[in-house]
Amino acid sequence: MKNLVYFDYNATAPLKDEVIDFMSEILRESGNASSLHSFGRNARKHVEKAREQVAELAHTHSNSVTFTSGATEANNTVLGAFKGQRILVSAIEHPSILDVIENVETIPVTPDGIIDLVQFEEIISKGDAPALISVMLVNNETGVIQPVEQMARIAKKKHPQVFIHTDASQAPGRIKIDMPALQVDYMSLCAHKFGGPQGTGALLSLPGAKPARLLLGGGQEKRQRAGTENVAAIAGMGLACTLATRDMDQFIALAKWRDQIENAVTTAYPDVKIFGQNSDRVANTSSICTPGLDAQTQLMAMDLEGIALSNGSACSSGKVNNSYVLRAMGASDSEAGSAVRLSIGWETKQSDIDHFIKAWSDMISRTAKTSA
Ligand code: PLP
Repeated sequence: MKNLVYFDYNATAPLKDEVIDFMSEILRESGNASSLHSFGRNARKHVEKAREQVAELAHTHSNSVTFTSGATEANNTVLGAFKGQRILVSAIEHPSILDVIENVETIPVTPDGIIDLVQFEEIISKGDAPALISVMLVNNETGVIQPVEQMARIAKKKHPQVFIHTDASQAPGRIKIDMPALQVDYMSLCAHKFGGPQGTGALLSLPGAKPARLLLGGGQEKRQRAGTENVAAIAGMGLACTLATRDMDQFIALAKWRDQIENAVTTAYPDVKIFGQNSDRVANTSSICTPGLDAQTQLMAMDLEGIALSNGSACSSGKVNNSYVLRAMGASDSEAGSAVRLSIGWETKQSDIDHFIKAWSDMISRTAKTSA
């Protein structure tokens, strides 16, 4: 049987075994977390335990956690709460930030994929005081860690009333998350990037943050988000938060495999460019541009070898589009169109890395022969 290799953790990561076991147990229990009988109280216990675990991951209080269907819902809600006011977002945000409200202003990034702090200071020094600034903690395409704390400090010094939001979807288990230290008022999370289930996330709002109501109806989630809680998924997210912190050193050690791949491809083909390579990055992500070879061809060639890769914007549409993130970093259309993303994780093995390097080298030799 073909060796199947999953290198697309940033799109969605495999559930951790302990999370599957725990969720399976809970799925066998009945109980609406709002019911007063013992079944309901048992469900409530799971939800509240998970709330504590999410809060612990972000070094904040459990009162700040509202469960959602994912980061998209959390992101949309925060942006929606500031509709009609001045909103600044980075140019490399996820579409669930960029495509929500018209007339958001974008903050540029440097060629290394980091928010340009000089331009940021200029932008906030002109015009009305911004009401909301939203900048992601880790970029999903390049893995580059953003200077959220610095931005929040600069912005709040100049405009003490401004609210700061960070989409931290790609951060849990990869870097330490300390919401008070980051000085952000809101944070979005989604469980399926760090070993929890799909369709579950959270919006964290610190005291003093403008309330952002997500869904109207019943009084669940302190009246912030109506609808019966998805108890098993929420409990799975809670456990995944605890495991993310427990397993962080192992995750950081993945950098050796990422570097092995990057060294192999740049040695074999010196024209290859790794986006964000000189920046602080999370350990598992590599954005590899192979000039002259379009991303779709690469994705298909690797898929035939059983290797699942992605290009940045493929996850939502199923189509391969040139990455707006890479273009914001100054990549040309053709460079952005020749870039693929690989993102590894806890089930990755040395043999997967070896298989990738061999398959990639074979792909390059075949291309060299056809173009000779
Ligand atoms: N934000 C970032 C940075 C992401 O990578 C993703 C997932 O691709 C999302 C938001 C949206 O997450 P979800 O689709 O789970 O709502």
